[in-house]
Amino acid sequence: MTTFAELGLDPKVLSAVSDAGYTAPTPIQAGAIPPALEGRDVLGIAQTGTGKTASFVLPMITLLGRGRARARMPRSLVLAPTRELAAQCAENFDIYAKKTKLTKALLIGGVSFKEQDALIDKGVDVLIATPGRLLDHFERGKLLLTGVQIMVVDEADRMLDMGFIPDIERIFQLTPFTRQTLFFSATMAPEIERVTNTFLSAPAKIEVARRASAAENIEQAVICYTASRKDRQAKEKRELLRALIEREGEGCKNAIIFCNRKTEVDIVAKSLKAHGYDAAPIHGDLDQSQRTRTLESFRDGKLRFLIASDVAARGLDVPAVSHVFNYDVPSHAEDYVHRIGRTGRAGRDGKALTICVPYDEKWLTAIEDLVEKKIPRVESPLKSGSEDRGNRSRRNKRHEGDAEAAAAPAVQAAPESPERSEEPRESARPPRNERRPERSERTERSESQDRNKPQSRHQSPRRSGGRGHRDEPVVGMGDHMPAFLLRSFKPRTEAEPAAADEPVEQNAE
Ligand code: AMP
Repeated sequence: MTTFAELGLDPKVLSAVSDAGYTAPTPIQAGAIPPALEGRDVLGIAQTGTGKTASFVLPMITLLGRGRARARMPRSLVLAPTRELAAQCAENFDIYAKKTKLTKALLIGGVSFKEQDALIDKGVDVLIATPGRLLDHFERGKLLLTGVQIMVVDEADRMLDMGFIPDIERIFQLTPFTRQTLFFSATMAPEIERVTNTFLSAPAKIEVARRASAAENIEQAVICYTASRKDRQAKEKRELLRALIEREGEGCKNAIIFCNRKTEVDIVAKSLKAHGYDAAPIHGDLDQSQRTRTLESFRDGKLRFLIASDVAARGLDVPAVSHVFNYDVPSHAEDYVHRIGRTGRAGRDGKALTICVPYDEKWLTAIEDLVEKKIPRVESPLKSGSEDRGNRSRRNKRHEGDAEAAAAPAVQAAPESPERSEEPRESARPPRNERRPERSERTERSESQDRNKPQSRHQSPRRSGGRGHRDEPVVGMGDHMPAFLLRSFKPRTEAEPAAADEPVEQNAE
């Protein structure tokens, strides 16, 4: 087995790695560090959780050990798709460069620039940034990228999802042609392939096993669930989530709960809070200081449930997350791999539970195709739309009604709030022996009603004036209607003698 000492890293870096408690490099580290130290471009195909951050941070620190930064001209650049990932890279630099004199700045949205500006003005060795923020700064003339010797693109596939590829291409063009590029992506979409073909020069390609297939320490399961009624799906899913958390018991020390939409993140967080769970949301629309606070308290173990969107939680490195719940099946199969990779980190065991409603089944199939295995199905702690759910709900009616009312936004409240919809559906139906009119009858009836407005449906032809209403079907006679009821009552003139087989009109009166 390779050791860190064999990789050619600076002794100060080795000492910091050892202080961090890491004894052996991970496969991406063992594969990427040697060519990076040789000054070669590197294309790393690896997920978060594989140790890929250190695979570029450690050689960068070693390489930057020689030389000094100049004002406004960072010597290296790390681009990350989200603020959280950028902040995480910065933390990694702090850990591994603690025994060196290297300086760094962090350029991300939502935080005050004053301090970072001052650092950049003075000159930094490492600049870590999100692409948009970096370009903002560049355009304001605060920064020169011509001194960049090493450029890192982290999570390129996420950059692609977020529409950052044009920004990345522009940044590439602003840096010197001679720079070294370390490029990381979990997948190689055609667009990413194109970028790497354009901007990387004969890279060393290191591909490590997909985390989903490699991470045997993550127990995965799917809970297929059909709501009792479509308009109750959202509420029942939240109920199911709570039941799953309860079923995990003490083992569920903390969890990240993923939702596909930001609005859902807020609703689920509010609902859990209203039900007495220690929960908080994190997504891109929240203020940065709030995001940072939430993340810190989750990291410190003060917050038990973090409800997150994919973007906000992508690449988050919280070592001890016992559970990941997919409240929704992610619509991009790769996101599943990223999501479950938030648990089972640093050799710990983890559990990933995914709720799948019928609409999401196609996405589940795509995930299973990607990870090349069938994810075990486990029973739902709730029975789909069954009476026992109804009873339970009635038992908790008061409490739940209050909590859900607090959690659900006004638009959600309409279909979800009426507790009486817990009643068995049958009661709303007509008695079984009451025949529903055939389509033609229904049409006829409504036409007839229209014609005779304001006549009530229950008015008899006699009460409504007799003639002109005989076309109405007679309710209660079944499909058969005696022929005489359909006959015209027009009085016959003498010029029209009755046919021999016709009854005399007057007899019918
Ligand atoms: P990353 O893929 O960079 O997000 O890292 C995933 C996790 O692995 C982080 O918690 C790192 O601190 C940890 N890690 C990095 N390198 C090693 C290593 N060589 N051995 C064990 N854990 C590591």
